[in-house]
Amino acid sequence: MTSTSANRHDAPTQTAPPLLWGRNSLPVPYAAAWSGEVPAVGAALTIREDGSGLAYRDERALDRDRHGVLWARLTEAPGVGRPVFRSLHSHRQRRAMLGMLCQVCGAPAGRTARGWLFLLQQPGPGEQPAHWPEGALSAKPPVCAPCARLALRYCPHLTVPLALRVRKPRVWGVFGGLVTPGVGGALVSSPNDECLPYGHPAARWFLASQLVLELRHCRAA
Ligand SMILES: [Zn+2]
Repeated sequence: MTSTSANRHDAPTQTAPPLLWGRNSLPVPYAAAWSGEVPAVGAALTIREDGSGLAYRDERALDRDRHGVLWARLTEAPGVGRPVFRSLHSHRQRRAMLGMLCQVCGAPAGRTARGWLFLLQQPGPGEQPAHWPEGALSAKPPVCAPCARLALRYCPHLTVPLALRVRKPRVWGVFGGLVTPGVGGALVSSPNDECLPYGHPAARWFLASQLVLELRHCRAA
């Protein structure tokens, strides 16, 4: 992960200015979803011919990631409709995670010798795992320093934020839901979404919507 990130860090990056929204013309995060971006899974899902897992009827190479996990299809149309600030668009979220791009502006995330910059919401009292944030799982891409300041000021979801430097973010798995054959062979979606590590046997019946990183070698920024 780290070497891949470092290589991609030098790759050409987003140059489009952020889309603005509302009376105060606030920048809409690059990775935020828009209401005009709609799921395109529908009746396209099926069971593989050999019965070994989930597939699309008209599956394309881009429908699966390099670990073989199927991803939910979603149209991509930033700027169409209204921004949905609480939700990240799965393609842009994955792009930002794999390329270590800032989730707000889409440019390379902040990086120093102490690591990549992440903003996390602190768990509530009694919910904090031992050693947190070391080893924390995150579906939120990193940020750059100017956007971190912006997010701390305007993001309503960061009520108790913690800025972290993460030296070794590692691709851990996916967030999404199980879709399994029910009675009569019809596919049934699990009611709750969850995180699943890559390599898990259930991955072949999983429809991913976010990439999940494990944050290792963390320090408060
Ligand atoms: Zn930024």
